[in-house]
Amino acid sequence: MNPPRPSLTPLDEALTAILAQAKPLPALETLDLLQADGRILRQDCRSALQVPPLDNSAMDGYALRSSDVPAPGVLLPISQRIAAGQVGQPLQPGTAARIFTGAPLPAGADAIVMQEQCELLEAEGGQQVRILHQPQAGDWVRRAGQDIALDAIALAAGQRLHPAALGLAASMGIAQLQVARRPKVVLFSTGDELVQPGSLAPQALPSGKIFNSNRYLLTSLLQRWGCEVEDGGILPDDRAATTQALQAAAQRADLVVSNAGVSVGDEDHVKPAVEALGALTLWSISMKPGKPFAYGHLRRSGGGQAHFVGLPGNPVSGVVTAMLLLRPFVLRLQGARDVAPRFMPAVADFAVPKPDSRREFLRVRRNAEGRLELFPNQNSGVLTSAVWGDGLVDKPAGSTIVVGDSVSYIPFADFF
Ligand code: AMP
Ligand code: MG
Repeated sequence: MNPPRPSLTPLDEALTAILAQAKPLPALETLDLLQADGRILRQDCRSALQVPPLDNSAMDGYALRSSDVPAPGVLLPISQRIAAGQVGQPLQPGTAARIFTGAPLPAGADAIVMQEQCELLEAEGGQQVRILHQPQAGDWVRRAGQDIALDAIALAAGQRLHPAALGLAASMGIAQLQVARRPKVVLFSTGDELVQPGSLAPQALPSGKIFNSNRYLLTSLLQRWGCEVEDGGILPDDRAATTQALQAAAQRADLVVSNAGVSVGDEDHVKPAVEALGALTLWSISMKPGKPFAYGHLRRSGGGQAHFVGLPGNPVSGVVTAMLLLRPFVLRLQGARDVAPRFMPAVADFAVPKPDSRREFLRVRRNAEGRLELFPNQNSGVLTSAVWGDGLVDKPAGSTIVVGDSVSYIPFADFF
């Protein structure tokens, strides 16, 4: 007899439930800026100075008092030259200062006129400049503190560090940042059908076997999300071996991830193994692809526990559940603030006339008009769809799509 059909948990409910379990790991480390890309900041960075520190010029040109140029054509003597990195003298009234981009505005000046709007003239006893444009106070002046005010928290704990964030930290004079330690993940593949690529020639693959693709896509995703991934290898479809391997992994991992074997078939040994070693608090999500996603924990001998996530075996289901559920989970383990995927409206250039009882995530890509095209084969075993595509459409349960409909779209790039 088939086991009873489990009730499926809505995706949003599942995400809320696993995030509630994802307490940020307490261990921190201090890294040089150049090591910190992609990591989660665990301190507030308060600025000890204003950025930029002084009012300065946004152009190569002339600094002056705007009131000295009531109309275009005024001729002013050039009283000084200020390059970036120098500080000039207070500007004598009725004169202009030659100034370069990034150089501090001299005291008394209130505007810059760009050099393209000036005419340089040699005169007896020095140079003069004809101002061909009537300036307004503030023209081409970058105000002190316009980027970061003194004492402002320019980067807050929970920020995922990326190139611009690292640049912003550097602009405050910060050289090192406190970030979350990388979560240690042990990743298992499961299934007697799996063969590691490289272990034999493709033509020599015995019938009934397939190459293990999920190991590579999941390892790469987890690494992009800040995890240190240990490959636990391929578990055979065997209850005792599965239980033993998960138990050992829980001792050294913050998170044990297994792939496949979490359905209810006779050859799916992961569920009973996790239940024997701890508990499964979530399994079977109302989404397509990706139904057999599981979450629970594994007790460690000697106390404590490791998180457990079971991902579906079909490669597209694995990618989609990893992006929508595992990513928020591992980022939150590192203390990240904004982890939920954010979809945006986009226009469908395709139709899906048949409704599905589950919420679907379709592999699509933007065409030259910015509208979305659908990969023709949406089967969860067709990994090509995720390589061809550049994102997902979130199609609500029971809905259909006609050409021209506004749909919810998220680019894959948002998950990296
Ligand atoms: P299962 O959940 O174990 O029934 O697996 C579901 C499907 O995913 C089956 O067709 C498996 O062969 C396939 N599968 C499981 N693990 C992998 C893997 N690591 N790489 C590629 N396909 C896999
Ligand atoms: Mg299997």
